Amino acid sequence: MERYRDIGLKLTPQRVAILDFLQGNRKHPSAEDIYRAVHRKFPTMSLATVYTTLSALKEKGNVLELTLDPDKKRYDPETGLHNHLICVSCKRIVDVPDDVHVDLPDSVKQDFAIIKRHVEFYGLCPKCKKEHTTPVKEASDVRRS
Ligand code: ZN
Ligand code: MN
Repeated sequence: MERYRDIGLKLTPQRVAILDFLQGNRKHPSAEDIYRAVHRKFPTMSLATVYTTLSALKEKGNVLELTLDPDKKRYDPETGLHNHLICVSCKRIVDVPDDVHVDLPDSVKQDFAIIKRHVEFYGLCPKCKKEHTTPVKEASDVRRS
């Protein structure tokens, strides 16, 4: 994401602060996370400003909206092909490089021209693994339909 790229909105100091927060951010923050961080510097900024800015960024392809976390949408300024690993307990999302990928056999592909691929891995992070005494749910239970 280029920092001051045209996002189709007037670049107010609040919006610049949102872009600055997102720039290089590898934590996949939610809108609320962004709001909390930027609100410290701009107490008058509303959550609506975060939403409109995110929606403009998404529209321009400058941010990815991830739906891996069942509780809230998460945002990723890294828009290149890569995969994700999510902790089902604390919802921490970690990048997985694109060299881990699944190729579709021709019989499954059915002549589709594949334009994008995203593999999701679910698990428990080292911290949550220590705190969990119950067995990890099977992947099929964890995955939303
Ligand atoms: Zn965790
Ligand atoms: Mn990512």
